[in-house]
Amino acid sequence: MANSDCLFCRIASGEIPADIVRSDDDVVSFRDISPQAPTHILIIPRKHISSVTDLSEEDSEVMGRLFLMARDLAEEEGLTEGGYRMVVNAGADAGQTVFHIHLHLLGGRRMGWPPG
Ligand code: 5GP
Ligand code: ZN
Repeated sequence: MANSDCLFCRIASGEIPADIVRSDDDVVSFRDISPQAPTHILIIPRKHISSVTDLSEEDSEVMGRLFLMARDLAEEEGLTEGGYRMVVNAGADAGQTVFHIHLHLLGGRRMGWPPG
C-alpha cells in the first residue's frame, strides 16, 4: 500500500521527518515545508493514491476523513470564524508536484480569487 519511492508515504511512515500536526490510523497531517499562508497544513491518506484521477470507490470514506481532519485543524488553528481554504491540485496544469493525493489547508490571511 505504501510506496517507498513516494515522499509523502515516507513522511506518513515516519521515515522522513515532518512537522506532524495530527495522525490516526488512516490520515496524517503535517505543515507544508514552504508555507503559502500563516497556516498551511497538508492532509494525506496513509494509503498511496497518486491523484484525484486515481481515486476509486473504496477511497470515498478516507477522502471524507481528510475533510473531517481539515475541519478539526481549522478549529485548532483558530481559522473557523475568519475562514480558510482547502485546495487539491490534480495534474500538471494545476501545479501538482507530489503525486500522493493531499489536501492543502490554508488560512490566516485574506485569499484572492480566482487562484493563480
Ligand atoms: P502540490 O503542488 O503537489 O499540490 O503540493 C505539494 C506541496 O508539498 C507543496 O506545497 C510543497 O511545498 C510541499 N512539500 C514538498 N516537499 C515537502 C517536504 O519534504 N516536506 C513538507 N512538509 N512539505 C513538502
Ligand atoms: Zn505515497
